[in-house]
Amino acid sequence: MKIFAKGLIVTLLLTLSSASLHAQQGKQLDERLKDHLYYLTSDELRGRQAGTEDAVKASEYIAEQFAEIGLEPYLGDSYFQYFNVAVARNKTFRNVVGIIEGSDPTLSNRYIVVGAHYDHLGVQRGKTFPGADDNASGTSALIELSRNLLANRNTLGRSIIVVAFDAEEMGLYGSTYLAEVMPTDRIDLMISMDMIGWLKEAERLTIQGAGTVKDGVKWLAEVPYRGDMKLSLNLYENSLFTATDTRGFARAGVPTFAVTTGTVSPYHKPGDTADKIDFAGLQDITLFMTSVVEEASKDATFGRSGKVATIHSTLPIAQIGLTAQLGRSSMRWPDSAMKGKKGLLTGVGATMQFNIGRWLTIRTGARYEWAMPKWPSDTNPFGASTKLITEQLTTPLTVGARLSLADTRSYSFISAGWYYTQRYKATIDKENIPIGEAGIAREDWGAMWELGTNAGNWQLTVTNRYGLTNLLTNPAKGKTRTRNTICELTYFF
Ligand SMILES: [Zn+2]
Repeated sequence: MKIFAKGLIVTLLLTLSSASLHAQQGKQLDERLKDHLYYLTSDELRGRQAGTEDAVKASEYIAEQFAEIGLEPYLGDSYFQYFNVAVARNKTFRNVVGIIEGSDPTLSNRYIVVGAHYDHLGVQRGKTFPGADDNASGTSALIELSRNLLANRNTLGRSIIVVAFDAEEMGLYGSTYLAEVMPTDRIDLMISMDMIGWLKEAERLTIQGAGTVKDGVKWLAEVPYRGDMKLSLNLYENSLFTATDTRGFARAGVPTFAVTTGTVSPYHKPGDTADKIDFAGLQDITLFMTSVVEEASKDATFGRSGKVATIHSTLPIAQIGLTAQLGRSSMRWPDSAMKGKKGLLTGVGATMQFNIGRWLTIRTGARYEWAMPKWPSDTNPFGASTKLITEQLTTPLTVGARLSLADTRSYSFISAGWYYTQRYKATIDKENIPIGEAGIAREDWGAMWELGTNAGNWQLTVTNRYGLTNLLTNPAKGKTRTRNTICELTYFF
């Protein structure tokens, strides 16, 4: 056993080996997986694009398989769960959902959801994207995992919801819908198998989300069926730019395992074909995941750790962060066409951000700044030198809109408002210039706008400030205003 610690992510590699008790049954399993996968990636289904007849055919096949193995439909007498997608109103989308009722009188009121998306990219510019690894592999495993669970159904405690999701590639619509309509407080674990057909090349099966269940790393290490593979366990899913069907459930606080052999296959390319799938590996993963689901179903103490990945947590109403600034400061003379030369602006400070509802953001804070604008030569009212340095404290206040991207912690925003600056010190050639009465004005305020982007706890902002007050205390010297363009990097705690 080896443990690698990388920041918050702990990767545990377990070499799992045991004599295969399933050798006899395994060969059949291997062939069945192959049958499903070759059909799902066949020319007939043309890449299973959500909203097309091809995806409908794929969902019919999955429903037939569910019926054949004896899975009960989750919703009355149909396996199909229809839902709408706002960007494609006139098309049909449907998850395929079955249930295996648990046999424990108390635990059976609770659920384990195990899912895999069956849709892929279809035909694009005349090329078919078969999506063998993404995600005919997970769909095939899902069918066989259900068959295995049904064979031991008397031992199950919690009820198992088995679901083949539609419209994942369009934006996780099928899983998001199921998470919306299910009582998520009664789900003790949600598993998404997405791209699990390349075990040999990947050399390990990755499970992200071990930290979302109580003692998850230890619990996973003790799952009885070990197969012959390495496991790589991540405590949380933390990628800001990729997401899988766990998302809707994770946002609702449900523990989630995202199971994958990773992006070693030709990801989202026409070359993601059935002949490249590692069926021996897929079989091992199917048996291992059957064991994971069985154990989670039986284990009365199995439950949530109370922690979810940062990207899945809801944005707090108030955030505090440290900010560093680097930018340009210059002067303008609104009564003439003259422009000052740009100088540096640096500073440090704190940012407070209030997140209200889904879209609104209010930002404020304080910055201690050094602004170094320059006069054009010979226009300096204080003498020959052209460079002014002011030390100042600035308080911005803006209101803006957040634009959601991949996740709650990954978004852009645009905001506008006002700022107020108090100057404490001004120097020209290391000589102090009086603040207030005889030189540089003590106060400055004006309008500002910001454009920002967030990734996890980091925020990068471009701020533009337009001074509306006179920099100089003597009006006879003319109106001089400041103009600042600043990059700000903030880390939120
Ligand atoms: Zn996928």
